Amino acid sequence: MEIDVRRAVGYFLLTDFIRGFGLGFKYFFRAKATLNYPHEKGPLSPRFRGEHALRRYSNGEERCIACKLCEAICPAQAITIDAEPREDGSRRTTRYDIDMTKCIYCGFCQEACPVDAIVEGPNFEFATETREELFYDKERLLANGDRWEAEIARNIEIDAPYR
Ligand code: SF4
Ligand code: SF4
Repeated sequence: MEIDVRRAVGYFLLTDFIRGFGLGFKYFFRAKATLNYPHEKGPLSPRFRGEHALRRYSNGEERCIACKLCEAICPAQAITIDAEPREDGSRRTTRYDIDMTKCIYCGFCQEACPVDAIVEGPNFEFATETREELFYDKERLLANGDRWEAEIARNIEIDAPYR
């Protein structure tokens, strides 16, 4: 039996086209599996470990009491703290640096902190163009805390029953 190769190829191309078209049509009406980032963002867990922040109490006082537990537990040795007593006798940091290029986002600093001062907040959009911008100082960390306090407080409250 003689096979008409051109007809056979045409037949396969046509069936492939119909199958592909059917598949496209099927998914056209389904919910999209992708997000148009950065205009759309997915949900984040309250336990998400993002950019670090130092928090304050509602009266503006720093939470950190310079116990240095976070510095001691950090496996990457990314945290550097200097501290001095204030005139009122309370102990506060004079320097609180995090080298974000060393951090492995383990969350140990947050877990060790007795006053929920250092936290890993919900911000994941802090890419920089230079390494130097990733050497965070106390001012930067406190500014992060001020910026994200509402979200951080809400996440801690949601997660509280499981801590
Ligand atoms: S998240 Fe882990 S590695 Fe990063 S600063 Fe905290 S303890 Fe160190
Ligand atoms: S951030 Fe928390 S664990 Fe670290 S020195 Fe301050 S109070 Fe202590």
